[in-house]
Amino acid sequence: MRDVTLFNGQQMASILTALPDPVFILTRSGRYAAIFGGADSRYYHDGTGLVGKTMHEVLNDDKADWFMQQIEAALAARTLQVVQYGLAGSDVRGVSADDGPVHQNRFEGRVQALEFLVDGEDAVLWVASNITERHLLETQLRVLSETDELSGLFNRRKLIATLAERLATFRRYGTPTSVLIFDIDHFKHINDAYGHLQGDAAIELTAAVCRAELRATDVAARLGGDEFVVLMPHTERAGARVIAERLRLRIAEALRAAGTLGQGATISGGLSELLAGDVSTDAVLKRADDALYCSKRDGRDRITTV
Ligand code: GH3
Ligand code: MG
Repeated sequence: MRDVTLFNGQQMASILTALPDPVFILTRSGRYAAIFGGADSRYYHDGTGLVGKTMHEVLNDDKADWFMQQIEAALAARTLQVVQYGLAGSDVRGVSADDGPVHQNRFEGRVQALEFLVDGEDAVLWVASNITERHLLETQLRVLSETDELSGLFNRRKLIATLAERLATFRRYGTPTSVLIFDIDHFKHINDAYGHLQGDAAIELTAAVCRAELRATDVAARLGGDEFVVLMPHTERAGARVIAERLRLRIAEALRAAGTLGQGATISGGLSELLAGDVSTDAVLKRADDALYCSKRDGRDRITTV
């Protein structure tokens, strides 16, 4: 037989108070019926003042409504629900966006329906864990894994993933996406004549022009070396051609203004769009790349559309 320690009521209360993460008892009507724990002061303020109040008294309507929906979902499911949410000072009533930290904390809530009524109402147990640091690290890792270090644009991996999403959308709904591959002409000369740092600067400048010229929904990526790809969702070839030509001229202008290759800096590109027969992202990239090759062969400083 194992020894079983029985705690008296006072000891149980003291144990609950010592829990590092805060535990809320929330009723269906959105009342804070009780709060235990939250003893880890690195992550939590004292929440005891909330007891007896409703979420709509404490939080702005949008946040309060969201919490109420989660309570309803947990009551309906009867199983543990795991949710994530952000909370900032500006979500709390009476705190203007100007005071307090704008910094948003990120939480994971584990929500379980209780088997008994609280003050005559259905209620849930809501354990909140502050995951701000983990969330920040996850976000930084994701951004790092998707970003080309030199240009700050998306890298090849993120480009392919985004193109695959566009292909799926195209195959399901017929939504067009145009694909431009472009490359700086005689880039080796920049490296040879002015040095590798100057070459890097030309790549960074090219990326800056992309960011300035393209729409927020367009996706610019660096494939490697001096080769870039732009995806233009919701844009057919004819419309994309206008954007691509403008981009080509603006990049060349910027490179010339920076003194790169004197007055000789030019750009070549190949433009295509997703087609009905495309079963993989390779198909459209190959078409655009072949078109880029045609531009190079035909004398550079142009965009070939296929
Ligand atoms: P083309 O007109 O046919 O495009 O000729 P190109 O000289 O531009 O030749 P290509 O595009 O084949 O060569 C790209 C060169 O870019 C080769 C490589 O030395 C250089 N390169 C690749 N990555 C980097 C980089 O990160 N920084 C710099 N400065 N140069 C790079
Ligand atoms: Mg080149």
